[in-house]
Amino acid sequence: MKYDKEYLKKMKANPGDKTLSPTCDNCEFNMGNVCAGSGDRTDGKGDIYGMSIDETKKMFPDGCSDFGISFSAFEIQEKMNGR
Ligand code: SF4
Repeated sequence: MKYDKEYLKKMKANPGDKTLSPTCDNCEFNMGNVCAGSGDRTDGKGDIYGMSIDETKKMFPDGCSDFGISFSAFEIQEKMNGR
């Protein structure tokens, strides 16, 4: 499951690549203090857009379904794979 097609797409990775963790720290929707993603909160209080990153990290320790790898994380991941 972890390395299925959807996961590889979110991580912009190739099959067999080493990958970073899909956490808020590595997410393109992490705007520093707030999340700009559009998924649902787990507490039924609307969507995640505008939540503080401290809050999203607690709610989604492994990243949410809206995760997409950030450019800076992608650069690190590419280096991990010798590119
Ligand atoms: S809550 Fe989701 S969209 Fe927001 S920063 Fe975390 S992983 Fe990214």
